[in-house]
Amino acid sequence: MLFPPRVSSAVSPARTPSDCRQPRHRPSQQRARAPTAAAPQPGRREGQKARGAQGERGGRRGGAGGDPRGPAGVRRRPPQPRGRGRGGARGPPIAGLLACGSGGCAHPAAAAAGRAMGTVPSALKHCLSYQHLLKEQLWIAEPPAAAHPAQEPQAFGLPEYIKIVEVGPRDGLQNEKVIVPTDIKIELINQLSKTGLPAIEVTSFVSSKWVPQMADHKEVMRGIERHPGVQYPVLTPNLQGFHSAIAAGATEVSVFGAASESFSKMNINCSIEESIEKFEAVTKSARNMNIPVRGYVSCALGCPYEGNVIPEKVAEVSKRLYSMGCYEISLGDTIGVGTPGSMKKLLEAVMKEIPLSALAVHCHDTYGQALANILTAIQMGVAVVDSSVAGLGGCPYAKGATGNVATEDVIYMLNGLGINTGVNLHAVMEAGNFICTALNKKTNSKVAQASFSTGTIN
Ligand SMILES: [Zn+2]
Repeated sequence: MLFPPRVSSAVSPARTPSDCRQPRHRPSQQRARAPTAAAPQPGRREGQKARGAQGERGGRRGGAGGDPRGPAGVRRRPPQPRGRGRGGARGPPIAGLLACGSGGCAHPAAAAAGRAMGTVPSALKHCLSYQHLLKEQLWIAEPPAAAHPAQEPQAFGLPEYIKIVEVGPRDGLQNEKVIVPTDIKIELINQLSKTGLPAIEVTSFVSSKWVPQMADHKEVMRGIERHPGVQYPVLTPNLQGFHSAIAAGATEVSVFGAASESFSKMNINCSIEESIEKFEAVTKSARNMNIPVRGYVSCALGCPYEGNVIPEKVAEVSKRLYSMGCYEISLGDTIGVGTPGSMKKLLEAVMKEIPLSALAVHCHDTYGQALANILTAIQMGVAVVDSSVAGLGGCPYAKGATGNVATEDVIYMLNGLGINTGVNLHAVMEAGNFICTALNKKTNSKVAQASFSTGTIN
């Protein structure tokens, strides 16, 4: 089962998230919620209102296209035993009930989530399971995602829509230790294609000598089901790769430059200048064939060989890629060392050279800064964000560290901001579960970890 069943909450109205217990339960262990018609208690009114709203939403979703596990919030609650719970939080814990008890907090993330979100929905205060939260709360949009009318992203000066570019099948799998079978890659891409993602980077047309993980690029390109409205860019480091990609059916390509001379030499075996010449040949051919080209600038916030990279150097490389015809420039924090401060300085420099509408950010979470960096970027008007399902891909320069920011976590944050992505978070989580199962690894998505009962997807 991909998502554990919802766990009913025994509600003591005055309780806080810190009273929650971990929602690890099987269907047979489910208990009914405490009734709503208990004796009047302090805080009861708020709790009743919250639960009523949940039931209403859950009921609506129980129809076609809703949760296949059945409607949420429509279970009848049995009468509450008299004499229990008088005094709300002061009352004794209810044996066998799952949410609030006096045993302290086994749910610190809930409290943390509440703090981070500022205004905590009243339902959260009553210790709903994560599964329930993910289904019922405003920051999780229904498919296809749409901003909740109660949220006004414009009030924060944020973009109304963020385009998510999924890089897991290429950037993610390329950096996984194992070589993933071709049919697994194809299935992953096919699942991602059904999530509402507007762009999925499929593979890389590089020499299998350099990147053996992508040696099956032609088979993958030919094997995937392409959905209308979804872009399927592939990486093409040179003209030879470009022609191979086009022959395999690619309709969009990417070139991969660097803002660090050392990294360019180590990563693509040529200087920045030499790489630009190769990219010019690619963009020229692409232009003649009406093929859009996306440009990456790696090491935009730091280099594993040189350390700091000055924003002006990133701006210079970005400008050259943009000038040669790249329609979008993705600024990559390849080793994940950036912070909101350095991201701000970087964007200020790059925005002097190329239009904001042509900028994307590609953040790695090596130091846990990815979401903060993305938030900084979108607050500055960037409306394209790269991410990787399940946070696929590691960091070759920091052993054991996380790599790409997880798509699930980005969508969760954007949903919470009321920003439309058009992406179904649950469908992405299922795709993440699929690939993590295939790779026998734990997801790097915090959202997925919190949403699955064991924290390990298997
Ligand atoms: Zn990456």
